[in-house]
Amino acid sequence: MADRETATGVLGLIEAYVNTVDLEDGAEQFKDPNTLSAWLVVRRLMKPGHPATEADLKHAIAVREAIRGVIGANSGATIYPLDTATLNGAVAASRLRARFGSDGKARLEPEAGGVEGALGRIVAAVFAAMGEEDWTRLKLCGSNSCRWAFYDHSRNHSSRWCRMASCGNRQKAKRFRERAKIGA
Ligand SMILES: [Zn+2]
Repeated sequence: MADRETATGVLGLIEAYVNTVDLEDGAEQFKDPNTLSAWLVVRRLMKPGHPATEADLKHAIAVREAIRGVIGANSGATIYPLDTATLNGAVAASRLRARFGSDGKARLEPEAGGVEGALGRIVAAVFAAMGEEDWTRLKLCGSNSCRWAFYDHSRNHSSRWCRMASCGNRQKAKRFRERAKIGA
């Protein structure tokens, strides 16, 4: 996966979260509640000692896929009401509030703790990222079976595939086969 383009900062967090599953080969990082809470603790989104439940796991995956949905708009995809409803639900459950930190800067912070609070921090990162110029560079791979989130480093924002070496070439090969079929 080293050749997949990655982002940093809030965009990097969102990208990493969305890419905790590889839809192409089915590899899922959030296999159970424990792997979810470990991921959230490592990323400092949650303090240790809040074991996640099966319901938290389901919620975390739903939020992840809803974020994938809104990133899809940067690649020209339709926004589904279910995705925005899921994100609004995460905002409500985590009780996100604007708060001025000791550095004088305002940010959204959850009043809720545990996994709900951690998911609130991820949604707050999406909110912050959407206010940044390079938000539209966070895209989904154009392959329907992949939909990997990647940062488009191209000068004219024209990248469509997560990895030219695999998805891009696979699409090219598919088009080539389709053309060959039409020609036959
Ligand atoms: Zn891809």
